[in-house]
Amino acid sequence: MTIRAIYNTLLLPDVSYYFKKDFFPNQEPVHTGADILFMLLKNEKEDGNYTPEDFYPIGISARIEGDSEGDTVHIRTLDRMDFSMVEIENGQINAAAAIRPEIQDMSEEEEKEEFGKLRTALLKFVQGYQWGLWARSFILQRKNMNDLVCALSDYLNLSPDDKYAILAADSRRERYELITRAVNEFMELSKVAEEAKTAQKDNQEQLYREAALKKQIDYLQKELDDMHPENVSDVRKFEKKIASSGMNKEAKQEAEKVLNRMRQEGKESHEYGMLYDYLDFVTSLSWKTPRMPKIDLDKAQAVLDEEHYGLKKVKERIIQQLAVMALNKKQHGSILLFVGAPGTGKTSIGQSIAKALGREYVRISLGGIRDEAEIRGHRRTYIGAMPGRIMEGMKRSGASNPVMVLDEVDKLAKDYGGDPASALLEVLDPEQNSTFTDHYMNVPYDLSNVLFVCTANSTDTIPEPLLNRMEVISFPGYTAVEKFQIARKHLLPKAMKAAGIPEESLEVTDDAIRRIIEEYTMEAGVRGLKKQMDILCRTAAVELVRKTGDTLHVTEENLEKYLGRNKLHLEKRLTQADPGVVTGLAWTRAGGEILFIESKLVNGKGGLMITGQLGDVMKESVQIALSIVKALYPEETKVLEEKTLHIHVPAGAVPKDGPSAGITLVTAMASLVTGKPVSTDYAMTGEVSLRGTVMPIGGLPEKLMAAQRAGITKVFIPADNVEDLEDVAEEVKTKLEIIPVKKVTDVLDRLLG
Ligand code: ADP
Repeated sequence: MTIRAIYNTLLLPDVSYYFKKDFFPNQEPVHTGADILFMLLKNEKEDGNYTPEDFYPIGISARIEGDSEGDTVHIRTLDRMDFSMVEIENGQINAAAAIRPEIQDMSEEEEKEEFGKLRTALLKFVQGYQWGLWARSFILQRKNMNDLVCALSDYLNLSPDDKYAILAADSRRERYELITRAVNEFMELSKVAEEAKTAQKDNQEQLYREAALKKQIDYLQKELDDMHPENVSDVRKFEKKIASSGMNKEAKQEAEKVLNRMRQEGKESHEYGMLYDYLDFVTSLSWKTPRMPKIDLDKAQAVLDEEHYGLKKVKERIIQQLAVMALNKKQHGSILLFVGAPGTGKTSIGQSIAKALGREYVRISLGGIRDEAEIRGHRRTYIGAMPGRIMEGMKRSGASNPVMVLDEVDKLAKDYGGDPASALLEVLDPEQNSTFTDHYMNVPYDLSNVLFVCTANSTDTIPEPLLNRMEVISFPGYTAVEKFQIARKHLLPKAMKAAGIPEESLEVTDDAIRRIIEEYTMEAGVRGLKKQMDILCRTAAVELVRKTGDTLHVTEENLEKYLGRNKLHLEKRLTQADPGVVTGLAWTRAGGEILFIESKLVNGKGGLMITGQLGDVMKESVQIALSIVKALYPEETKVLEEKTLHIHVPAGAVPKDGPSAGITLVTAMASLVTGKPVSTDYAMTGEVSLRGTVMPIGGLPEKLMAAQRAGITKVFIPADNVEDLEDVAEEVKTKLEIIPVKKVTDVLDRLLG
């Protein structure tokens, strides 16, 4: 019997196959009724040189049923065959073959049932397809499981091994299971592929649809624009601005939303203005991430020196900050807080930092802000809603990395309108400020490239969490010598320039400047001095215009002609020493001041009388002082049983509270009861405990400067404050005898013996 090799075909018993005639070379007996054996190849070889190992051991027998139409041969399979002793000679296969029995482990009904189930599933599956109708009749023609699976085998996802496994299964049940699995897998795979295809199509369709809709919108828009040409310019203008702004995604979305509203509403709408303002605001902000400019420390130092005289320590600290920024490659550093009296150069040095860095400068005044919305903005639902001051400042700067000076952070108030300090905290916190969201804008803005500098007169009223974020740098105020240099080098030339006075037309002598500082100003900073320079130049300008050509000479003698007689009534040292009167030193927001403590015994029935609007802490100091004096001078204080002790602290402008007048009060009372006057050369500051210990105080540099300004020559300070002398200008230290004391008796011994 002829043995034929066949590859990759699902062979099962009792199934019809149709072969091409050329599958059987001419010499072979292909006549009807001839028997033939098929062996399955594991692999196909191009040269056709097969060895026995290339065959699977199980094959099938078949009978040629006859020629069917034209060039095909109809074959019907019979039994599964076991092949052995395979030999191949000149392409001819010789082997022994024996029928391999099947294990009939399914009843006929069961077989029918399984076949029915599979066929139903298949019929259902093909329903959805265009070729479903053809497939339906094809499936309905299959008579049994073997027939069905062989007809479908080209469509199923079966490897040569899979096909052989079905043939090799001896148990019917096992074979049916293999077949069912193969068919089900095929159906599932087809479904998934189909779904993917539909999804892809949907996507494509959506894109087409979107493009078409956009075109339609554009078209309709143009028509609308033609009807309302007055709206067009604004809308187009913002369209362009939004596109070129570099806004982040959220901002762009919001802006486009507002722009759409603007289109719909039209100019007559009462909302139009609000929408316009919003778009104008967000498109005026800088949204571009700034390049990190190179920091040149020498240049920065030069700029700082050029614009500000003195302030050595402050400048040193600023340069350090810039160096750290350069190393970290960051546009911001720690937040500096400049603390000092008005006119000490805090704000203007902020401006110099911007100049030194080549960055924009913007100043925001926070004084008196009560409402959180002033920082964070009002929600746009309000009529007249506005952005907060921070974002408004960003707009003014026109940059995304300006140097922003936040002035007077100590004057933020807390009120029903929320807590502005906590809003400010969010602005300054590097963890949060990259997504700062102003309520008006309603979209995040990156503030992390802003270099913040804050200023304050004192740290007392700054909330702790805010203060913790900042690095305090104090501006202690200027000495007379420094003020002179500032006036000469900066204030006067600037004032002349502002008044349009050429350099050669006005000469102010050194003595004149010194007199202005001494008699017309009384301050830690140079604001008053600047004002006087301005007045001087304005008066000089009038004179110059009247009689052109001459150079004006301003001297100590003719100064009053220019500045008037409005000399300040200064708190100068007392000229006469009286028992019970002693000079103290106070710290105020405007710097230091001297103050006088006066005491007197008046007729009455004992006890204390206090006048001069003292605060509670100072009233307590009076009580403590009295107890100390009573203990130290038991004899002398006996008079207090019949007389009333009146304490008065004049000078209305100085706020009088705080404990630092302690030793002054004790000395004044001791001087009164002993009847010994205290020399007016002396001033003093120090808190005192009930045991008479002198405790440290704040604001020493300012106080000593005030003492020196007032002509005091000797000052008692708490011994614990000696370290603070480092911050006091040399000029002040050389002019004062500074006497540190530990106990109040040290003062009394020296002054009263
Ligand atoms: P502050 O912010 O501390 O109140 P400003 O910065 O407004 O003070 O300074 C007030 C004026 O004094 C400004 O015109 C400033 O240029 C000038 N000024 C202050 N300090 C100096 C200084 N060290 N050198 C030159 N000008 C100064």
